[in-house]
Amino acid sequence: MKISTRVNHPPAVAVPADNRPLVAPIYQSVKFTFDDVAETERQSRGQRDGFQYSRVSNPTLQQLSLTLAQLQGRDDCLLTASGVAAVNLALLALCKQGDHVMLFAEMYQPTRYMIRRLLGRYGVTHTMLSIEDTVGIEQALAAKPTRLVMFESPSNPVLKIADIEAITAAARRHGALTVLDNTFAGFHNHGQFEIDVFVHSLTKYASGHGDVMGGAVIARRELIDRMRQDFIVLGATLDPHTAFLIQRGLKTYALRYERQCANAMHVARFLEGHPQVARVSYPGLTSHPQYQLAQRQMLDAGTIVSVELKEQGGSPAAFANALKLFAISASVGSTESLVQPGQLMKPRDLNESEQQWAAVSDRTMRLSVGIEDAEDLVADLQQALSAV
Ligand SMILES: *Cc1c(COP(=O)(O)O)cnc(C)c1O
Repeated sequence: MKISTRVNHPPAVAVPADNRPLVAPIYQSVKFTFDDVAETERQSRGQRDGFQYSRVSNPTLQQLSLTLAQLQGRDDCLLTASGVAAVNLALLALCKQGDHVMLFAEMYQPTRYMIRRLLGRYGVTHTMLSIEDTVGIEQALAAKPTRLVMFESPSNPVLKIADIEAITAAARRHGALTVLDNTFAGFHNHGQFEIDVFVHSLTKYASGHGDVMGGAVIARRELIDRMRQDFIVLGATLDPHTAFLIQRGLKTYALRYERQCANAMHVARFLEGHPQVARVSYPGLTSHPQYQLAQRQMLDAGTIVSVELKEQGGSPAAFANALKLFAISASVGSTESLVQPGQLMKPRDLNESEQQWAAVSDRTMRLSVGIEDAEDLVADLQQALSAV
C-alpha cells in the first residue's frame, strides 16, 4: 500500500480486556464503525450497545454523563457545550407553544432572556416573581396552568435561598415541573428534594479550572429519554476532549468545593467584623436572613460571598482595583479568587421594582472565593480596604 493509503488505515492497537487504562482514554472520534451492515443497523435500532456518531453518543461523554447523574442522585444526564446551552435546550425540549413558565428576577440574566424574549417569540408566556415570594408563587400557580417553574438557589449575586420544599410542593400541587439551575450549590446539594430537572454549568465547579466550558441536564430516565432526541437535533454537543478535561477536573471537585467553602466562611467572618463594611451576605453567617433555611437544605454554605462597603468605606471600583489576589472577572468557581463589582452586574433588563428584588446595587460586590490560603486572602482584603 502507498503512503496515502497507509496513513489513513493505521494498524489497530487492541488493549486486552484484563489490561485497562487507569484513566479512561479520550474517544476523540466522531465516527464509530462495525464490521458489517447488519450490526450497524441493529445498533441504529437500539437492539445492541455501541456508538456510531459523536453528536448522538460517545464513550467519553457517556462516562461523564453517568458520573454527573450519580453525583446529583438521578438516572441520567445530557451534556451540552456550555451552561446556557443546558438551560436553553432543557427549556426548548420541555416547552411548547402556549405553555406558561414561572421564573424569578434574581436569576441568571441569560436565562431571563431565554424565557422572556426568545421563548416569548415562540408563544410561551411567563410570570416573573421574586424568589422570596412563596405566597405569590402558590397564587400564580393556582391562577394559571403552568408547564414549569425554573429557579436557582442560592441566587446570584446576593445569595437569597429558595425555599425548595415549598416551591416543589406548590409545583406538584398544580402539575408543574420544577427545573433547578443548581450551578451555585453544586452536585452534592439539593438531590434530596423532589426536583424534576437539574441544570448545571460545568464551566464552574465541575471543570473547576476556568479553562473549558460545558453544561449538563440531569433528571430521571423518562424525562431524559423524552428530551434526548431534541438535544441531538439541536446539536450543542460537548466535545470529547472537553468532556475528558471536565472528568479530570471532577476528581478534585469535593476537595476544591470544601476548601472554597471554608475559605468563604473565613472571608465572610473577617468582612462582617470590619468597620468599613456595611453588609455581608453569606448563607453560612447567622446574620443571613435565611440562615436556618440554608442550614436545613444545604450541606454547606457555598463559595460565594457578597459584600457592600459603607459609603465612607471606599468606592467598590477602587476596592476591586486594589485587590491583588482577587482578579476582576465575571464568572465564579475558579481555583483563583475573583471579584465582580455591582456596576458590572446591574440587571438592566429589569424594571425598577424587579431590580429591587434582584437587590444588586452599585455598591454590591461579589467575591468568588478560590482555594488559596485563607490568611493570604484576608490579608489581601485588609490591604485593599486600607488603600481605599
Ligand atoms: C455561569 C452560569 C450559567 C451559564 O453557564 P456557561 O457555562 O457560562 O454558559 C448558568 N447558570 C448559572 C447559575 C451560572 O452561574
